[in-house]
Amino acid sequence: MEIVLSGIRPTGNLHLGNYYGAVTSFLKLQEEYNCYFFIADWHSLTTHPTPENIQNSARTILAEYLACGLDPEKATIYIQSDVPETIELYLYLNMSAYLGELERVTSFKEKARKQPDNVNAGLLTYPTLMAADILIHRAHKVPVGKDQEQNMEMARKFSRRFNQMYNTDLFPEPQSFSMSSEGGIKIPGLDGSGKMGKSEGNCIYLCDEPSVIRKKVMKAVTDAGPQTPNSPKPEVIANLFTLMRVVSSNDTVEYFEGKWNDCTLRYGDMKKQLAEDIITATNPIRERLVEYNSQPDLLDRVARIGAEKARESASATLSLVRKTIGFRNY
Ligand code: ATP
Ligand code: MG
Repeated sequence: MEIVLSGIRPTGNLHLGNYYGAVTSFLKLQEEYNCYFFIADWHSLTTHPTPENIQNSARTILAEYLACGLDPEKATIYIQSDVPETIELYLYLNMSAYLGELERVTSFKEKARKQPDNVNAGLLTYPTLMAADILIHRAHKVPVGKDQEQNMEMARKFSRRFNQMYNTDLFPEPQSFSMSSEGGIKIPGLDGSGKMGKSEGNCIYLCDEPSVIRKKVMKAVTDAGPQTPNSPKPEVIANLFTLMRVVSSNDTVEYFEGKWNDCTLRYGDMKKQLAEDIITATNPIRERLVEYNSQPDLLDRVARIGAEKARESASATLSLVRKTIGFRNY
């Protein structure tokens, strides 16, 4: 069965964009493929978080993914730092990763500009660590957003290079596949800016209390000028409809479409309805989240089982790699 792998950065709580854009695709993938979902805590070291931060953010994100329905019985869900085999592969890959190509990676250049006092080698070799994450399970497919495309190109390059260098076909060339092809939907921000995102600061989080969700939705930008019959919708209004199509029933969407078309749409009414439908759609997740967060032992157990399964696959690959390079197995 084809192997699918996806890394999840523990950079904050999950929002509607993460959920409808990525996690819902993961839920489908775990039914069809041999999936590995890992929490990329090593990657977060490139910006030096504190020890408490690392522990807590990995746990928080694990609880949220489980609450969304990622199933440790169906997929291997693990924390990156629990699988040290990755680091050994990272070392081997670094031996044939070149300064020039690493310096040319756009995300490196951006990070280097943002944190000029901390342009560390980890930042530079982010693409080799990402390649190691993927190749350690010899994954075939990696669902990624556009921002990761260049890193995926590098992962393919490192995979091919290793195979050529040692005249082997040990690593498959990992293919990116877009989550939109798996039903992922781009969720807009409600502040008139393009997408909902943590960096944009415009998120509705899955863990937001209903009262918070109501407040956020009621504040959505709608100042769109006078309506004329059947006119195309300005972006801010189209955004409300996009979200509504995701969380509300067809009848509800049609009702408000009708209102828009005959110029009787009251934005306040639409937002009230939208808020309630977001709350209803996300309620089961919030309920499960409360349960997981009250059971730290359960979270530990899930992480431990995930780590065991991941290490089994990782050590099998590493043993082949060692043999190929000429090292003894320990
Ligand atoms: P950051 O602002 O730090 O980039 P983010 O909010 O964009 O954070 P990511 O951690 O970059 O979230 O994304 C995790 C996953 O969620 C990715 O697969 C990404 O494509 C998806 N995603 C993020 N925002 C949206 C959105 N608004 N609509 C659809 N998918 C999204
Ligand atoms: Mg992003």
